[in-house]
Amino acid sequence: MARRKKLYEGKAKILYEGPKSDTLVQYFKDDATAFNAQKKATLDGKGVLNNRISEFVMLRLAEIGIPTHFIERLNMREQLIKKVEIIPLEVICRNVAAGTMSKRLGIEEGETLPRSIVEFCLKRDDLGDPLIAEEHIHAFGWASQAEVDEIIGMTLRINDYLQGMFAGIGIRLIDFKIEFGRYPVADGHQILLADEISPDSCRLWDRETNKKLDKDRFRRDLGDVTEAYQEVASRLGIIKENPATPPNLSVISNND
Ligand code: 5GP
Repeated sequence: MARRKKLYEGKAKILYEGPKSDTLVQYFKDDATAFNAQKKATLDGKGVLNNRISEFVMLRLAEIGIPTHFIERLNMREQLIKKVEIIPLEVICRNVAAGTMSKRLGIEEGETLPRSIVEFCLKRDDLGDPLIAEEHIHAFGWASQAEVDEIIGMTLRINDYLQGMFAGIGIRLIDFKIEFGRYPVADGHQILLADEISPDSCRLWDRETNKKLDKDRFRRDLGDVTEAYQEVASRLGIIKENPATPPNLSVISNND
């Protein structure tokens, strides 16, 4: 595909103009950032893995009726997506205490929550994506009541499905962050799941050993970050398991 006009560059992805006015090309970079971009690194192959894992997850979710922005994967690092107006919320769903919830509420990491909890953060890097209440969303007009209700319903369905999907490959879904957007349709707009779902945006722990298979390996200097993402992709059946293969990702079928 010919190089297209860059519209936006984020910490882990770039958005380019798509072939049609209602599409974009989402490019997955190898860059990793944490703590509001105070910690940065380049992790060889991370973008390729996240492109594949996010494609896999979005396709499975579409099969159970979750409308997503994903259209098709174009190559190793790019996917064609529907152009949406991003709702400025990070929607976090938690099953087990970890990260900022553990810190904020003094709950030990790993403690199963009494029920799944949906939280909202405002998508504002300059403020460190602060936790907000639903009241803020309505008062400041970031989304309507109907949109918030739909977003919570979709998030809980996504959580149910993903918990089962990961349990099937020996992984506990601790928590995840998702984003939604508005896509114009004839009589208004439709809410679509947007952005990505990958080990960058989820906490994934091995069921037997509690080994972290997600971005906390980078945040907490645990090492072997790409290898952990590769392990997730391999268990999902996206890449062939081959311990002898060096992490140059040659295991990923190259029809791109
Ligand atoms: P926490 O609030 O505990 O830091 O994160 C909760 C979950 O949301 C984790 O799975 C974390 O990876 C994800 N998350 C929170 N904020 C961000 C963010 O700005 N970017 C990404 N990729 N994931 C996030």
